[in-house]
Amino acid sequence: MCGIFGIYGHKEAAALTQLGLYSLQHRGQESAGIVAVDDGGHARVVRAMGLVSEGFEDEEMEVLDGPISIGHTRYSTAGASAIENAQPILARVRRSHIALAHNGNLTNAVQLRRELEDDGAIFSSTMDSEVIVHRIARSTGETPEARVAEALRGVEGAYCLLVVLDETVIVARDPHGWRPLVMGRLADSYVFASETCALDIVGATVEREVQPGEIVAVDRHGVRTLQVLPPAPINRCVFEHVYFARPDSKVFGGSVDRSRRALGRQLARECPAPGAEVVFAVPDSSNSAALGFAEESNLPYELALIRNHYVGRTFIQPTQSGRDAKVKVKYNPVREIIEGKSVVMVDDSIVRGTTTRGLVSLVRAAGAREVHMRVSSAPIISPCYYGIDTPRREELIAARMTHEELTKHLGVDSLGYLSIDGMLSSMPEGPQGYCHACFSGRYPTATPSEPELLRAGSAAGLAFSRA
Ligand code: AMP
Repeated sequence: MCGIFGIYGHKEAAALTQLGLYSLQHRGQESAGIVAVDDGGHARVVRAMGLVSEGFEDEEMEVLDGPISIGHTRYSTAGASAIENAQPILARVRRSHIALAHNGNLTNAVQLRRELEDDGAIFSSTMDSEVIVHRIARSTGETPEARVAEALRGVEGAYCLLVVLDETVIVARDPHGWRPLVMGRLADSYVFASETCALDIVGATVEREVQPGEIVAVDRHGVRTLQVLPPAPINRCVFEHVYFARPDSKVFGGSVDRSRRALGRQLARECPAPGAEVVFAVPDSSNSAALGFAEESNLPYELALIRNHYVGRTFIQPTQSGRDAKVKVKYNPVREIIEGKSVVMVDDSIVRGTTTRGLVSLVRAAGAREVHMRVSSAPIISPCYYGIDTPRREELIAARMTHEELTKHLGVDSLGYLSIDGMLSSMPEGPQGYCHACFSGRYPTATPSEPELLRAGSAAGLAFSRA
């Protein structure tokens, strides 16, 4: 999971990219980076571990001069958390440069990297994304966009890419369209971002989505678009709507707030909680779904869990014990709302179960009479290979336990998940054209032949961007 932002043709390109990255911080908190290309065609990069707010000193931003810029916020699995894996990648080849920011996960990167290494390529990171840079460097196409198109033929999996080749920005989205990518305008400049909230922050207007399989090139000759990648069935990631994207964004052309409310309403229809007195969310990602649940159930919506905003997402802790402690650090219940009541706690998803289990004991300690857990997605039973960080199947609690076991394990009076059909029917674009592999186990493409290598990446020094 990562956020990408790019701008062509603005004198403050890097400063606007930094702003855009602030809006995409939720897509990755591990590292952030910005590349800028100045009027003389010189590319410079600043990358840092941690948050956008921590990453860029004023002096560094001053160095990032010029009208072209791309940026990246990154989130990866533990082990790959190292500065050499921060993006954008900036490579110097034959007196020019290739800069690249990637959101997604390539499913055949292990093979592609082996082929390149057997052919003498030397890698400087352990990211899947770096194979694309090597392939672009070797491509012979006549135009920048033809080079990127040539490099992408044979690359499988999920990618939204922002590439800078010399003074051309090239943008590409994989033919399945797993991850969102939008194009906008700011006066004469072109802006690209994972989510529309990043266009809002810089004052750009949304023009359109970059289409699955489309390549867009922007340079001093204007804008060119190609639809040259082999067509494929559309597999937009349903989890972007469920959890990942911000509710003030549109992804895949649809409002995330609207989809989350619809998920919550559908959940209330499928799994009502008779006798419950109050509904609350596990903030922030399930706020909109809980609101939908409360509206549909005619129950009051309360702010019963207060989230400490200075603690990162629970997943960032690499060890299980660290995660347990973080639930408490991150959330505190409001006793005055909960005490003596039968409550509905809504979350968007249960992955390992750590958050729910920890929260249920906090809510009970705050005096809840009954705790009814409602989840605005289906049980997560399979890992994602297309860019969302889900753990191995063995760690997915819904894959390991029956409904009864899970209800007991979580310590709730009742547990209700949304059905896959209910989830898909809540999508603003209609139920077709979504990837739901993490919920159904039905992968729309061949899965990686070496998933463990793809996940941890240690054996061959491969760790994936989990962009
Ligand atoms: P868990 O404690 O492992 O069950 O994680 C569930 C919590 O993490 C829920 O509150 C979700 O909103 C959130 N969540 C779901 N998927 C992810 C993800 N890929 N990365 C970070 N947090 C997630």
